Amino acid sequence: NKHQPTLLVTGGAGFIGSNFITYFMKKYPDKLLLNVDKLTYAGTKENLNEVENLKNYHFIHGDIADEQLIKAIFNDYNIDGVIHFAAESHVDRSIKDATEFVRSNVLGTMVLLQAARSDWVKKGVLTERRFHQISTDEVYGSLGETGKFNETTPYDPRNPYSASKASANMLAKSFGYTYEMNVVISSSSNNYGPRQHEEKLIPTIISKALSGESIPIYGDGKNIRDWLYVGDHCIALDQIYHRAAPQEIYNIGGNNEKTNIEIAEKICEILDEIEPDIKEKFSLTSFKDLITYTEDRLGHDRRYAVDDTKLRKDLGWDATEPLASGIRKTVEWYVNKWKLPTP
Ligand code: NAD
Repeated sequence: NKHQPTLLVTGGAGFIGSNFITYFMKKYPDKLLLNVDKLTYAGTKENLNEVENLKNYHFIHGDIADEQLIKAIFNDYNIDGVIHFAAESHVDRSIKDATEFVRSNVLGTMVLLQAARSDWVKKGVLTERRFHQISTDEVYGSLGETGKFNETTPYDPRNPYSASKASANMLAKSFGYTYEMNVVISSSSNNYGPRQHEEKLIPTIISKALSGESIPIYGDGKNIRDWLYVGDHCIALDQIYHRAAPQEIYNIGGNNEKTNIEIAEKICEILDEIEPDIKEKFSLTSFKDLITYTEDRLGHDRRYAVDDTKLRKDLGWDATEPLASGIRKTVEWYVNKWKLPTP
């Protein structure tokens, strides 16, 4: 094992990481992949049930900010690239307490960068091996009614989560410049799809609706996000990881700008159609009756939208999942999951 080239994925038990690993291992069945995840509240091994029995899938339960552990991993495996997803990811939690966000997102990224650099320098392969930093469009701040973020938009993070991600990106970028490490950064818009933690907008809407509870929507519901189906994100990451030039930065968008209320209504319409019995049980004319506006999130960014022309032009990627079918697949996935009898 020690000599077999291995891709190190961090945070692979979370939403995007687990979708990525499942996709990647199907596409590259011979590649050895090591997933390091702390299994915080947001990560679960259940997300990886499609790969956990493959012999080229390895899992280590650990913290990326644990320097000894990360150094040992580089020592024990022949890590030939890193795709770094691990992070605290929920804005609301960062507003309550930013400590873990700085520890995992900033310190954790630095530990990984230093361990990778020192191992790859020792082996004389620094410029060949890739460090792919996974980021978010939130680092660019908030937009008015028009315009889009592109790769040169200055960072302007507005909440502790996005500040920690912006810091991590800057560290990654600096390792690219200072040491000529082969770093790439991709910043994507809001992801949706199977395996997302229940605390996030779309799963929350579905779970509240299915249990007949009010569906909380922040403020006036008019905050706009550009929704990207997680499967399309995984394809983009594969392209970027394998083909981007060193130090490149790519935005990944969904080309699906929608207000939160539009998303909530769309989900309710699908549930009206596929779960008429539950609707009846709670005496609703539509699940939309459950939508309730709540006090706005502090510093709630109004609109995010990314321009990903560069990715489309350079690598020929395109988001292919239409929002309507992506949302439907997502709703069906959660309905199936939550309807399974509990053992
Ligand atoms: P998630 O919260 O679902 O998963 C994060 C995973 O990281 C979990 O499995 C968790 O256990 C693990 N983790 C957290 N801290 C760790 C640590 N210190 N050591 C090891 N593992 C740790 O998050 P997600 O939505 O899948 O996001 C993954 C990445 O993509 C993050 O870097 C996030 O900033 C970025 N991103 C997310 C979105 C989105 O819409 N979800 C959009 C753009 C970018």
